[in-house]
Amino acid sequence: MHLDLGPEIRYFGYAIYLLVAIFGLILGSFLNSWIWRKRENIRIIGNTRSICIHCHHVLSWYDNIPLLSYLLQNGKCRYCSKKIPFHYFLVELITPILLVLVFRHCLTSLHFSEWRLLRNIFFLSFLVIIFKYDWLYREIPSDVVWAGVVLGLFINYSFLNKSLFSMLLGSAIMGGFFLAQYLISKGRWIGGGDVRLGFMFGLWLGWPVALVSLFVSYILGAIVAVGLLVAHKVNRQSEIPFGTFLAVGVFGCLMWGDKIVKWYMMFLGN
Ligand SMILES: [Zn+2]
Repeated sequence: MHLDLGPEIRYFGYAIYLLVAIFGLILGSFLNSWIWRKRENIRIIGNTRSICIHCHHVLSWYDNIPLLSYLLQNGKCRYCSKKIPFHYFLVELITPILLVLVFRHCLTSLHFSEWRLLRNIFFLSFLVIIFKYDWLYREIPSDVVWAGVVLGLFINYSFLNKSLFSMLLGSAIMGGFFLAQYLISKGRWIGGGDVRLGFMFGLWLGWPVALVSLFVSYILGAIVAVGLLVAHKVNRQSEIPFGTFLAVGVFGCLMWGDKIVKWYMMFLGN
């Protein structure tokens, strides 16, 4: 069915998306700063002034405009002229794009739920943190995972009628799969943080989408690892940021996991 909406309604729709994108820019900038403060052990709450990561000079508002400040200042701090790493720019660019996707996905799904929207915004924030933190530091802060477990369980169960059985099964399969690898390799293949992450993601997605996300993450990880090996950027002993790939796979499954499962069932049925 195609609804022909008047231009006023359409412009209103664009304006809403623009607002969401602006919120995404602010969220990305906030997540960047959160990750850095977390790593540097700087107090996160009550410490609102942004500072340069090198010289710790307090930044003014015009040093702090997402994307624009980075571009205008050539990716350098205005006070000490040291380079600001590109991943700051990348997070500020990707977060609003993903947030618009999350918003659109919720609006166009059959049963709109403001709780699903809120949950997915939280999940997106957690995924961006996990993606970047594991990529940079090969580590996943455990308090982030515990917060994600509590929040996911609470919203899924209380407001989205997700069955406890589906969540626990997803969690047991995904977490159990990593735990087995952890035990067999005595922690050489994957770390304890990855096991915790598996339990959390399984809980978020539930059965059977959790299983799909495992496949997607592994395929993605394998493609990138082979690419990096071929380009001689890594060797066989390099540690792979597993949480980074998982975060991408989980985001994809959060958006399109149900569709993939349906498509697969149809494929089996034929
Ligand atoms: Zn500086």
